Amino acid sequence: MKFIKLHFGACRFVYNWALEQKIKMYKQTQKSISRFDLQKILVREIKPSNDWLKKVNSQSLLSSLMNLESGFTKFFREKEGFPKFKSKKNQVQSFQIPQHYIVDFEMGIVRLPKIGKVKAVFHRCFEGTPKTATVSRSRTGEYYISILVNNGEELPEKQQFSEISTIGVNVGIKNFAVLSTGERISYPKCFKNSLQREKVLQKRVSRKIKGSKNREKAKQKLTKLHKKISNQRNDFQHKLSFRLICENQAVALETLNVKGMTENHHLAQAIGDSAWSSFVTKLEYKAAWFGKTILKIGQLEPSTKICNNCGFHHSELTLKYREWECPECKINHDSDINIAINIKKFSLQDQNLAVI
Ligand SMILES: [Zn+2]
Repeated sequence: MKFIKLHFGACRFVYNWALEQKIKMYKQTQKSISRFDLQKILVREIKPSNDWLKKVNSQSLLSSLMNLESGFTKFFREKEGFPKFKSKKNQVQSFQIPQHYIVDFEMGIVRLPKIGKVKAVFHRCFEGTPKTATVSRSRTGEYYISILVNNGEELPEKQQFSEISTIGVNVGIKNFAVLSTGERISYPKCFKNSLQREKVLQKRVSRKIKGSKNREKAKQKLTKLHKKISNQRNDFQHKLSFRLICENQAVALETLNVKGMTENHHLAQAIGDSAWSSFVTKLEYKAAWFGKTILKIGQLEPSTKICNNCGFHHSELTLKYREWECPECKINHDSDINIAINIKKFSLQDQNLAVI
């Protein structure tokens, strides 16, 4: 465990260091510094002056540089958020091992370079060539290893899509998502019940005296519930993403400005910390499996303010208005559905389009 934590820390350190170099370089020279240059500085200067980094798998450190690079690619190409510094305080941590690890299903262990034997409970066995392994710690403090396996199967070719076979998906405020067909999709009742229960248990923890046994017991109950919530959320997202991918040839989404959203309390609460991005991830890999397409439009598209019928730009409109009448064509809009239709329209218009 000590060495796993050391790897979390070292990879975070390298990531943050590299991000800082990139920002500095850009401020000073308006030029960017490449991953290969960063790698050279890391190996020649940073590692020799930081002994503790030598105890860490150097390939994991290089993976951090690659992660940062793909963060920047996403930022420029898909207009996703600018890469952020990683915090030590965040419970969720991870690092990658590109190769040289051994999985032993019979013994129930994984042998990791510079870390050694780790006992593991396998979710399932796999055949094929193991690629990158990712070691992570969840919000609830559990440790996971996820292993990417190349099973030699080619992904299917992308299928054609058109207006009729594309669906627009918008993050709802009251609902999890609203579709361009007008359908509203909510989390199942059992999930909502668990969220209610979370509030109750949270209160119980805060009422107990710090350091007491009772507080510890209450905390354990809360942790157990967090795990249940996360399972329920995942289950729901798997089912929904599977359905959307099966029923449509292309799914259109808006890249979300999560930072901007925290200003809107209700919206942030409805979406939950990273629930939306984990949903998008599920959609993306399922799309790849079944030869479907994910279309994304940038955050700058004024999808909230445009009438999907006549294209009128209603500049005074904010997220506060749940319903509005278009001053131009007099159509009544439900804001969420109007946005979902616009997301579909804009993404098909080839505006700000990024096909994955
Ligand atoms: Zn209109």
